[in-house]
Amino acid sequence: MSKPVVAIVGRPNVGKSTLFNRIVGNRISIVEDEPSITRDRLYGEGEWLDNHFLVVDTGGLDLDSEAELKDEVRQQAELAIEEAEVVLFVVDGRTGIKPMDREVANLLRRSNKPIILTVNKVDSKELEEKVKYDFYELGLGEPVAISAKHALNTGDLLDEVISHFSTEETGEYDEDTIRISVIGRPNVGKSSLVNSILGKERVIVNDVPGTTRDAIDTYFEVGDNQFVIIDTAGMRKRSKVEAGIEKYSVIRSLKAVDRSDVALMVLDATQGITQQDKKIAGYAHDQGKAMVIAVNKWDLIKKETNIDQRYADEIRYEASFINYAPITFVSALTGQRVLEILDIVEYAAEQYSRRIKTNVLNNVIKEAISKHQPPSQKGRRLKVYYATQPRVKPPLIILFVNDPTLLRQSYKRYLKNSIRKSFGFDGTPLKIIARNRK
Ligand code: GDP
Ligand code: GDP
Repeated sequence: MSKPVVAIVGRPNVGKSTLFNRIVGNRISIVEDEPSITRDRLYGEGEWLDNHFLVVDTGGLDLDSEAELKDEVRQQAELAIEEAEVVLFVVDGRTGIKPMDREVANLLRRSNKPIILTVNKVDSKELEEKVKYDFYELGLGEPVAISAKHALNTGDLLDEVISHFSTEETGEYDEDTIRISVIGRPNVGKSSLVNSILGKERVIVNDVPGTTRDAIDTYFEVGDNQFVIIDTAGMRKRSKVEAGIEKYSVIRSLKAVDRSDVALMVLDATQGITQQDKKIAGYAHDQGKAMVIAVNKWDLIKKETNIDQRYADEIRYEASFINYAPITFVSALTGQRVLEILDIVEYAAEQYSRRIKTNVLNNVIKEAISKHQPPSQKGRRLKVYYATQPRVKPPLIILFVNDPTLLRQSYKRYLKNSIRKSFGFDGTPLKIIARNRK
């Protein structure tokens, strides 16, 4: 299931970013070796009482005119209503109701999404009653008074947020069905590529067997293999409003990633990999999803010797944290290598669910260690007693050791590389953790 999205809306300066930071705390996704992609906080992951969700702060826009600003705030509210499960409408308890608050309130009142009227900057108990009374006027039910800055009542606010999450299980696909999310910026050719795949003769698009499955997904079979493309509708959808909307198409992608096994990242060959691509890829990586990269519009690239290789090297250099992802060069326009994508996706999905026998795994790790001993630190040295792989999707390897703090990043990377050299695990992230031997 995908994580619910909580959107924070409101006019500038009411404390949206402060609240965002308060909720997300330091739980911002951290991708190894890629600090740059965490700088711009597009979204954050929140957790409250075992509920995990995504938080989106719609603020942070610098606009010149008042009219432009109004328009922007309104658009954000509209999109939040469309994409989020819960909307936090933030107002400022110290300034009271402003005209723009009323406008946003009018919009929100007409939606049928849960709206939580959040009165911020209520820094003392005395203020609380008065302020709450004032804001009833907006007609959005009982206000929740908080201070984002001083963390007052934010727990109550989160209680309220999670009470709106649906506990209903959506129908899922059976184990053998490979769930694919298609990610990438607008105009790279995602819909063209999906249409091209689905249009191939060998691809049999079926009505989804079973009951409660989502009509927005596209289920199909190729030979004995079953696939489903998650949220095909969302991907095809053309947004009427273009500016500032990218983050909302991103939310859709993130939700699709959550529900998938393999993220198929589509790049435009004429543009290469961008910051935005890296952010979404970083999310898929953090969530432990398999990944395949399709460089589309390859028909537009002048063919030179080794151009594929050089292009792939460039991507791997730019996004080294996903260096396990196979890269293929395709054209939705000409159909070149389009069907091959499915073979690669299937292969990645297989690796993603691959389990290595304990004795085989231990032999490989022993050999790696004997070739290259862990460095000693202040006279102490990491000792690995044994390894096991308790989990798949993605593969997780646990090393039982004398002291987990002695496992340095660089040595972990070395072990990871050794494991990949022996077993491949192409297309899937691989997690290694160290535990004290019990
Ligand atoms: P945004 O424009 O809505 O994202 O607002 P910011 O989060 O940037 O906050 C605007 C200003 O309000 C900053 O100076 C914050 O420090 C301040 N602020 C935010 N939350 C509170 C609060 O709970 N109490 C007080 N007194 N100030 C706050
Ligand atoms: P999406 O927004 O990622 O779904 O992108 P679209 O599928 O709508 O494609 C965006 C534009 O790129 C359209 O004008 C397509 O015709 C064009 N396009 C898509 N794939 C290819 C391709 O392989 N080669 C070329 N030359 N153009 C393509």
